[in-house]
Amino acid sequence: MNALGAGRGGAGFVGVLGWPLDTTLSPILHNVAFRQLGLDWVYLRWPVAPPDLEDALRGMRALGASGANVTMPHKATIVEHLDELTGDAEAIGAVNTVQRVGDRMIGHNTDIGGFGEFLVGDAGFHPKGASALVLGAGGAARAVVKALADLEVRNISVAARKTENARAVASLVTEGHPKTEARVVTWDHAHEDVGSNALVVNATPLGMGGEAPLQDAEFNSNQYVVDLIYAPPSTPLLERARAQGASAWGGLGMLIRQAAASFEIWTGRQAPLDAMSAAAIRAIGHLD
Ligand code: NAP
Repeated sequence: MNALGAGRGGAGFVGVLGWPLDTTLSPILHNVAFRQLGLDWVYLRWPVAPPDLEDALRGMRALGASGANVTMPHKATIVEHLDELTGDAEAIGAVNTVQRVGDRMIGHNTDIGGFGEFLVGDAGFHPKGASALVLGAGGAARAVVKALADLEVRNISVAARKTENARAVASLVTEGHPKTEARVVTWDHAHEDVGSNALVVNATPLGMGGEAPLQDAEFNSNQYVVDLIYAPPSTPLLERARAQGASAWGGLGMLIRQAAASFEIWTGRQAPLDAMSAAAIRAIGHLD
């Protein structure tokens, strides 16, 4: 074993910690990537209930896991069990990737960079000086707001069911982001705000079961609409935005980008994005 953990250069294993972990594409994405690069690694599903999280980390250390992805509901609570956080994870108080370096467990957040890379590199949005509306106040909304502020979006409006939660997300825009201002809009009036934003991001689960946020909103052909939901691949919000001429994007691009960044943290190798995307598209039709 080298200083980086079980397997850099040799065999290794990682997994995803979540509960109840019903729907996850991560094992498919990463196992395809390992095979593509000829790495003797495996990615496992680790359904871990909240009271068992600390034991799970102890088990990872004892068994020599190279790291883990972290998903709901552990992204914030895992922070107290880790030895160190990198800048993005610290900034939003949420971890989606754990890296084991010797006995130390290091928390990263690749959702922030993953969203930014998808938005600019894949969707082609020009963020500098733009205005954006973000729906939701959970871990994904925090990552999106941080990414948008890092990309120098000028105005960010945050809307969530609980105004105090939206305020907490807006407060992530700090003096470290002198070119960005954030404000809160009320959930019931968020649809009225749509027209003044070049970008609208849904970071709530509304749409997974056919529901639609912003039902009374009007979209236009100058706008980008991103729904972070990736299963189903399209949602009523995206259908409506697309029908009204907006550039509409689902959550698969962010999922692939954040996974690629996690892969690179664990293996030190560049992730095979094309193989991961193809595997995700193939698998998404078979999810529950
Ligand atoms: P989360 O931490 O549980 O936060 C969910 C947010 O949505 C909360 O603000 C919650 O409000 C709000 N919400 C839930 N149900 C709602 C409803 N019926 N009406 C209005 N607001 C509602 O979840 P998350 O991790 O942020 O994930 C949010 C979404 O993003 C999920 O669909 C997830 O699959 C997706 N996601 C995608 C990626 C990707 O890579 N594409 C990455 C992360 C997340 P309350 O606080 O009031 O409950």
